[in-house]
This record gives sequence, structure tokens and C-alpha cells, in this order.
Amino acid sequence: MGLLTAEAILLDVMDLHDRDRLVTFLTREQGKKKGVAKGARMKHSRFGGQLQPLAKAQVTWFDKEGSELGRISSVDLVRPAHRLQSDLEGILLGSYLADHVLEFAQEDDNSDHLYRLLDSTLEALLAGVDRDLAARYFEAWVLRLAGVFPPPRVCPSCGGPFHTEEWGDGAVLPPTGETLLCGNCGGHSGFLVGPEALELLRRIGRESLPRLAEGPPAPAVLRQVETLCALVRRHFLQRELRSYDVIQKTRAAL
Ligand SMILES: [Zn+2]
Repeated sequence: MGLLTAEAILLDVMDLHDRDRLVTFLTREQGKKKGVAKGARMKHSRFGGQLQPLAKAQVTWFDKEGSELGRISSVDLVRPAHRLQSDLEGILLGSYLADHVLEFAQEDDNSDHLYRLLDSTLEALLAGVDRDLAARYFEAWVLRLAGVFPPPRVCPSCGGPFHTEEWGDGAVLPPTGETLLCGNCGGHSGFLVGPEALELLRRIGRESLPRLAEGPPAPAVLRQVETLCALVRRHFLQRELRSYDVIQKTRAAL
């Protein structure tokens, strides 16, 4: 129990009753937290325009022992996220990033890696980095931090390289698997991943997002990585992220 303060990234802001808002935010050391911002829906609230999803802020809250819901006493913006929230595509991407963190971050647990990933991805997006590339970078890294999707260096089944005589350079994600295998181990059924997509996954593992943007991959390669990550994520979570459904429906409608 006590008053805590930390730098945080706001993930979700929901109306609660007539006067309040429920805020979910990510901190480095305490992981994902939830708190009530009392009176935040009222005019002239001290929270004013501070409660913006994906903004970085200094948050101060009372942690009540035995309750997962804290009480937020102040939110001071450090970095707004207006630029990402100014058009539909940006709003959808923002909710996609936040959805990942809401799903994968633990409550009351150190989340330094995830925090740095979200923070640096938002920083690059606000500086104008390609959104498609940023989304692929982010989704691949979230899976890697969750321990389910390491960068593809050698086939985890046979320990050999992904390049084989019979298959050439590429990998396959079996229908029942979360892990990329070489052609020999993976067989014919499954999602085939070409050499450019493998290379992009390796680059994502070792380069920063701004660096990656200096030598961007072709759109078809980004689509392949997107599909691959979606398959792995769905297999791991046993369901789809709601924001990804919305993104796909919106794309289909355009
Ligand atoms: Zn193999």
C-alpha cells in the first residue's frame, strides 16, 4: 500500500460510471497497472486532456493492497501521441500496439523489455517511420519477448541451416506449430517463408527500427512476416487480437 510514481505509457482509457475513467498503463518495474482516475469525465477535471492512449506520462497512484485497482492521483504528459491518433490508420495501428501489450504484459511484474520496445516503437512512429515496418518490427519482437519466436538462425528440429539442397533457402511453419523449421523437417504442408522474410526477421532481431527503415524490405516481404507472426500469435494465444480483426476488416473494405 502506498503512493507510487513512475514513468508509464497509457494503454487504455475507458469510461467508468458517470464521472470517472479507468486507465490501464505500462510501467517498467511494476508491469501493467490499472487505476481509477476519479472525476476524469467531469469538466475542469485535473486530468484534463492528459489521458491519451499511447501517451508517455509521469503517473502517480495509490496502490491498495489486495486490490488490483489503484487510484490515480496525477498524470503529467511527457510525450503526447497526437500524431499517431490523427488518422484512422494511425488509430488502428495504435490500438494494435496497445492490444499486444495488454495481452502480453504481466501485472505487477518487471516489464522493462516490453516497455522499451513500446517506447522506442512509439518514438520512431512519432518521428515518421514507416508504419507498416513498425508494426512488423513490433509484433515480431513481442513474440520473441514472450519466448515463443526466436530469430530464425538454425532449424530447431535438426540443428541444421534453413538452406537445404532440396528446398533452397526458406523455412516452413507447420500448421500445428509455433516454430519455423527447415524444409526437410517441416514437410510440405504449412506456411512457406521465403529467404527475404527470414532475413528480415534476423534483421529485426539485431537492428533498431530507425536503422531497419534505412534499408526497408519490399511490401511483399512485410506481408509474409505479418502473416507468419499472426499465425504464431494465434497459435500461442489460441485466439486473434481484436484490433487485428478490425484492421483486416478495414483493409478489406478499402
Ligand atoms: Zn530441420
